Amino acid sequence: MANPPADLPRLKDIVFDLQRIVRDGVGSVDEEASLPTLGTLVLVRQEMQGGGELDLVVASERVIARGIETLEGSSPHEVLRLLFGLTASTRGRLAKQRRKAAAERAGSDPATFNRHDERRYLRILARSIYALESEARLLAERLGSPPDRAEIKANWLGRFTRYHRVAAILRQLRLDLLAVLVTYRKDHGEVSQVDYLDSTMWYVARFLYEVEEFNRALGGIWFMPERAADDEAKVAIDLVLWHQPFNERGRSWLRIAIAQVPAGELFDFAERLHDGPDGNEMLGLWEQWLKSCRCDLEAEPDQDCRPHRVIDQAERFDIVVEEQWPLVRERYRLG
Ligand SMILES: [Zn+2]
Repeated sequence: MANPPADLPRLKDIVFDLQRIVRDGVGSVDEEASLPTLGTLVLVRQEMQGGGELDLVVASERVIARGIETLEGSSPHEVLRLLFGLTASTRGRLAKQRRKAAAERAGSDPATFNRHDERRYLRILARSIYALESEARLLAERLGSPPDRAEIKANWLGRFTRYHRVAAILRQLRLDLLAVLVTYRKDHGEVSQVDYLDSTMWYVARFLYEVEEFNRALGGIWFMPERAADDEAKVAIDLVLWHQPFNERGRSWLRIAIAQVPAGELFDFAERLHDGPDGNEMLGLWEQWLKSCRCDLEAEPDQDCRPHRVIDQAERFDIVVEEQWPLVRERYRLG
């Protein structure tokens, strides 16, 4: 039989640590308990948040619970759950009471269970932990070692700096769109309408520019702390892009315009817009798009109104970022 790789622990050493945990029961293990073998497992280290003794105990308990869960559907599953105190009836009980319940479940008397069966069950559990450990090591080998905390923190900060920039632009775009749509209904005077035309175009150009930069730097992957939020953010951005009126050529013109005006300022950008045929064509398209809204502004907007779809999706993106940011901020105690 082939020998296990030198760095994988021996089963009997895992069993030795498991016996130590059975003595106190999962959830009650003394933080000073010595767990020399469990402490070396990649599985346990991955569960640990810090380096404290209690941390090691809690992480080991979690790994044991996982190991037991992999036995679900087999007869040792329930016996081990009773023995370690993972059931409502044995949680927090003394070892003697847990052993009695486990013996009953295993169909033997407590004395026999203590002498023979317990060790056999612990070996079965040790095997399943061993299997999980070797899987974890293979995966770690393929993926390389995980980045350290400082690196992860820096990555999140970099990401959220971009997310916040996009969210802030979309928030302003949304507010100005809401305002400009009103100007088409009532007499608000020519000046304010032109101002809003310029400012909303400016926000769109900045949005297009930021998204392009984001795609270039981070591959366009809106990675968030919570998995469900990834899609939420991506769909919101995709729909804003889908419903705005410019084709690829127009979007390219706007991105170049914003990149070329000093500091990306509105004043210079507006001058460029009104200066030549291309800019005027953009303005014409934009105004046509704005006028396509026929919604009753006092009621729910139309489902197929494109300006209102952009307004909704801009808000959706803002909400995702606002909800996800505190998870990162609190985790890394930022700002
Ligand atoms: Zn509308």
